[in-house]
Order: sequence, then structure tokens, then C-alpha cells
Amino acid sequence: MNERYSRQILFKPFGRDGQQRLSEAAVTIVGCGALGSAIAETLVRAGIGEIHLIDRDYVEWSNLQRQQLFTEEDAKALLPKTAAAEKRLKAIRSDVRLHTYMDNFDAAMAEKLAKSSDLIMDATDNFETRLLISDASVKYSIPWIYGACVGSSGSVFPFIPGESACFRCLLPVMPAVNETCDTAGIIAPAVQVTAALQCAEAMKWLTGNRDAMRKKVHHFNLWDQSQFDIGISRIRNASCETCGDSPAFPSLSEQKKGAAVLCGRDAVQILPDPKRPITLDDAERIGSRLDARTRRTPYFVELTALGHRMILFGNGRLLIHGIRNAKEGQRLYHQLFG
Ligand SMILES: [Zn+2]
Repeated sequence: MNERYSRQILFKPFGRDGQQRLSEAAVTIVGCGALGSAIAETLVRAGIGEIHLIDRDYVEWSNLQRQQLFTEEDAKALLPKTAAAEKRLKAIRSDVRLHTYMDNFDAAMAEKLAKSSDLIMDATDNFETRLLISDASVKYSIPWIYGACVGSSGSVFPFIPGESACFRCLLPVMPAVNETCDTAGIIAPAVQVTAALQCAEAMKWLTGNRDAMRKKVHHFNLWDQSQFDIGISRIRNASCETCGDSPAFPSLSEQKKGAAVLCGRDAVQILPDPKRPITLDDAERIGSRLDARTRRTPYFVELTALGHRMILFGNGRLLIHGIRNAKEGQRLYHQLFG
């Protein structure tokens, strides 16, 4: 093991053996916003061998205040977060085996990534995706580290299949911090603390220090300095559809919805119809026909048409900004692409 990890190897609970384990580990990070940026940087620096990073968004100016991997250059270029993150993470450590996915985290992706990982890190902003992570985690028996933050507070918990209640069991008692669609805003220290607590749990798991792991859901607020832990050992529901006696893993069998309002964003996402793929060339052509302001990057076409800013990605996924209604999104989509 080289000098690079000497300070980590000196840390007794790690040692050379722990560092070796980190170098052999594969971790999936779901989301590359504020939490995902912080988690990815910490895990890459720590020497995790292989990392899968998935995110469907691109860098915007409002991200720069807390999403530590991104720069003004990335925002100017409207770079996908996965591409911007890859550039930075490879500069930090060139030998990391990094796989990036500029895509939706759907059921198929959840199964694929769960099968190729030792651990999943939650860096999402919504319950729906966490239920999906939870189902994949229990089905393939790999743990995931829950993390959520808003305002000046956050909460963290390591879900280990078979040892704790699952996320679905817990939904009724989770702290209100998980209401992420609100307008409460967020300060970067809340992100950093949440990500740090998540990474500590990840390192404990991956280095074989399971006894040191949290047994309770931890919640903190940096502003009023409050913190508390919620014991969940008795919350497990025997008839839970994910971790109960006859699991159905409902989130893994859910069909993708055509149009969805994006959590916390003033935008609607339309997923492509597999029978009618729309390409970047199509989008450019329609843009010029409508006399719309059009900009093409290697990843997508940005159109300002019909009173809205829209982004069409290479795989046919469309983001329409400035609306919060899925039906209205569908209507605009058909107006554009027929
Ligand atoms: Zn459950």
C-alpha cells in the first residue's frame, strides 16, 4: 500500500487490512448533487476501488453554493453532473475505477447497480428513489446508507438487510427533514455533516468494523444545536412488502411513468417512448422550425420554445423548466414532437 493512504492505515480500526478492503470495494452513489458530490470526493480520496455514480441532471449556478465538485465552467457549459464529477474525481485520483450514468435511477438500473456493488450510498432527494434503493438492497442483501438534509438539519442511518427494519417499515416515523420539495433552502454545512456521517458508516462497513455502526437513526440541527437518535429495532413490520415474510419489492416492479414532476425543481421530466425515439438532430430541427433559441452540447439540446426552457438529452429524455404539472408537460411535449 503506498504512502498515499498512510494516515488512514495508521488509524487502528483500519490498518493495512482495512485499506486493502477499501481498495477491493465497489460502491454505488445514487445522485450527484450536494450529498453525492461530498460523498464521491470522500470515498474517492479514501481509496475505494470502484465507484458507480448516477445522476440525471446538469450543473446550474444555484448548485455551486454547496455541490463541491462543480465549478463556474461546468455551469456555463451546462455540463451533466456525472461528466463534471468525473473530470474532477479523476483529477483527484486517476486510478479510481469510475463508472458514470447520466440517466434516471429506475428499477432496472437499481437492480443492475445493486448486483455490482458492495454498498449503496443514498444521495437522492426523494422518498420514491429511496424506496427503490431499499427494495434493491433487501433483494440483493447489500446495505445502503440513508442520508437526507434540508435547511440546517440532516439525518443518517445505515440500513443493513436482515438486521434492521427497512426504509418502507420506517416511513411513518422518519423526521420531517425528508420533506425535500419545500422551499426551506439549505446551507452547505448541513450537507457536509450529513455526507461525513454517511461516509463514516460506509467506511465502518467496508473495513469490517460492523460493531461500530449506528444502531439508531441520527438526526441533527446545526442551527439550534439539537440532536437526537431514534431507536427502530421494534418498528419492523412483519407484513412489510419489502422486508416482511413474503416480500414483493413493489418499487422494483413499478413501471416508469411517462411524465413526472421533479422533486424540488420547477420542472417536469418526460421519459422517451421506446417506440418513438427522438434524437438530438430531431430536437435541433424542430428548434429551427419554431425559430426557437437552440443550443447543442455533446450531451443535449437546449431549446427555448413555447414559452419554456427545455433540455432534450441524448437518450430522448426531456426536461421542461418552469412548470409543475405533468399533464401540462405532456401537452407541450406533443405540441413539439407530435
Ligand atoms: Zn420493511
